Amino acid sequence: MQRRPRGPDRLARFVDDPVTGATAELRPVRGDAAHKAYRCPGCNQGIAPGTTHVVVVPLADATQRRHWHRACWDHRHRRRPGH
Ligand SMILES: [Zn+2]
Repeated sequence: MQRRPRGPDRLARFVDDPVTGATAELRPVRGDAAHKAYRCPGCNQGIAPGTTHVVVVPLADATQRRHWHRACWDHRHRRRPGH
């Protein structure tokens, strides 16, 4: 019996995406791998290049992926978009 290889992917986990309502995969993005600026749906502020954050990738449609500040993602149930 073979075990799944350990590596960065072991951090991935499946979550309910509060933006699309679909099941999504949560992936951490290290600052040195973040080359673009994004807008965080949690606080509606920009995520500067070089910032460690997370990306939420809906399984059904990866083009709907959203980048979040780590803290905003952790507090997403307290601060809902649009409120
Ligand atoms: Zn944010």
